[in-house]
Amino acid sequence: MRIDLHTHSNISDGTDTPTGLVLKAVQAKLDVVALCDHDTFAGLDEAVSAGKRFGVKVVRGVEMSANANGVPVHLLGYGMNVNDPELNAELKKIRQSRRNRIGQICTQLTEAGLDIDEADVFALARSSSVGRPHVADALVAKGYVADRGEAFARWLSAGCPGYVAKYGTELPQAIRLLQAAGGVAIIAHPWGRKSVEVLTGEYLEYLKTQHNLDGVEVDHPEHDQQTRSLLFDLGGRLGFLRTGSSDYHGSGKTDNDLGCCLSRVSAYREIERRVKMRGGQL
Ligand code: AMP
Ligand code: ZN
Ligand code: FE
Ligand code: FE
Repeated sequence: MRIDLHTHSNISDGTDTPTGLVLKAVQAKLDVVALCDHDTFAGLDEAVSAGKRFGVKVVRGVEMSANANGVPVHLLGYGMNVNDPELNAELKKIRQSRRNRIGQICTQLTEAGLDIDEADVFALARSSSVGRPHVADALVAKGYVADRGEAFARWLSAGCPGYVAKYGTELPQAIRLLQAAGGVAIIAHPWGRKSVEVLTGEYLEYLKTQHNLDGVEVDHPEHDQQTRSLLFDLGGRLGFLRTGSSDYHGSGKTDNDLGCCLSRVSAYREIERRVKMRGGQL
């Protein structure tokens, strides 16, 4: 079985529609694909119904913007009830912060000499889950940069003229909300570019023992082979579910081909078991 548990559609910052993503999953010979758009469930109904039509199991997922000791980290949720009021209220708060920061980013870029307005950015976003990749697309459209990669490197990453932080749920609270909604909580790319400093082995152990964190993403394009092997061993010692995923964003990110990293069937089965036990809906 080929199982990719972390992908994005253009409902957040991917470039395929949810249906288009499912068609790509068929081409990539995936049996299971999880749609994990940032801070929104808005693409899930379309993806699930396309999955039924085209014979791919679509897992309902989300990638929640969280905060660990002041550092932004991403928490994947699987199988949570998408109508859960508390979880939806929190996601709405994150999306509000996403929208509010676009104006500030554009102000800072304008001060740095670029001609860009928040309306240019909102015009390129398909839902309220708007982010820096949409600012990047606006900069590409205006000819300031060649692609999203250059936009991040020159203008949008931390330390660049257009950087503005956004709100994220405190990590233990995010885990609790996902699990209370029947879902499974797994930290995305824990030892990737940004979060490696804050998500130490010790802190991951604390999240497991004190907050019942379900698992960690191990095989991910941002983890090199040595990182994967260290994280796999640590995850085994701590009793974590260990997943693998592409973090596919369509043409928005070039190192993340659909199916380039996969999850083992045993991990997927355990996610199914926990969702069932918690009353969620995979
Ligand atoms: P935001 O959610 O607005 O803070 O933007 C972060 C998103 O931008 C993440 O989901 C990344 O996938 C994406 N991203 C970060 N760096 C890059 C990059 N160099 N090129 C393309 N996308 C990126
Ligand atoms: Zn993204
Ligand atoms: Fe992420
Ligand atoms: Fe992602």
